[in-house]
Amino acid sequence: MSRVIVIGGGIVGVTSAWALVNDGHEVTLLEAGQDIAGQTSYANGGQIAVSDSAPWATPSVPFKVMRWLGRNDAPFRLRPRLDITQWHWLYLFLLNCRGRALSAGTERNLRLATYSLSRLQQTRSTLGNEFSYDDSQKGIIRLIDSQKEADAARHYFAKNHKNEN
Ligand SMILES: Cc1cc2nc3c(=O)[nH]c(=O)nc-3n(C[C@H](O)[C@H](O)[C@H](O)COP(=O)(O)OP(=O)(O)OC[C@H]3O[C@@H](n4cnc5c(N)ncnc54)[C@H](O)[C@@H]3O)c2cc1C
Repeated sequence: MSRVIVIGGGIVGVTSAWALVNDGHEVTLLEAGQDIAGQTSYANGGQIAVSDSAPWATPSVPFKVMRWLGRNDAPFRLRPRLDITQWHWLYLFLLNCRGRALSAGTERNLRLATYSLSRLQQTRSTLGNEFSYDDSQKGIIRLIDSQKEADAARHYFAKNHKNEN
């Protein structure tokens, strides 16, 4: 048994703390905010979409980001600053937009997402009604409005979901 401190009480911190308690450790969870899961984990899209494992960094994103510059409702908002950390992050992001990095990233994400889904299912069956949230398992509809996107989606699913129905 070890004594463990988990910093941050979002979904990642809380689930990690719970797994550590189940493994017999003494855990202290520290949260800087007023509430547990009061930040990013509070109001996200709520999708558990293992099939949607492609990273945000894709070959088309740098061009889209240029078009979105200055738009307040852009899905990816970039505010360039004289900040070496930001430029270093951007450099790494651009490296990861290349096709090969995208394939490797998608495969890694998919493995992690598949594992996470199995842990989520275990958690649901262990905790039963104590683990209640607005859960819906009816699937997700994705709307595609161009032939190009349809072809890309078909290619992505054929490549990454060979063994699924
Ligand atoms: C608009 C939006 C939609 C999204 N939709 C989806 C979706 O549909 N499906 C999906 O799977 N994911 C979605 N995500 C992503 C998902 O919400 C995040 O990946 C996830 O919530 C991150 O959880 P976290 O525990 O890492 O971070 P957080 O929930 O942000 O938790 C971090 C916690 O650490 C605390 N903290 C920070 N610093 C300290 C410190 N020094 N000491 C103590 N505490 C500290 C913060 O207060 C916070 O509570 C979405 C995200 C956004 C923004």
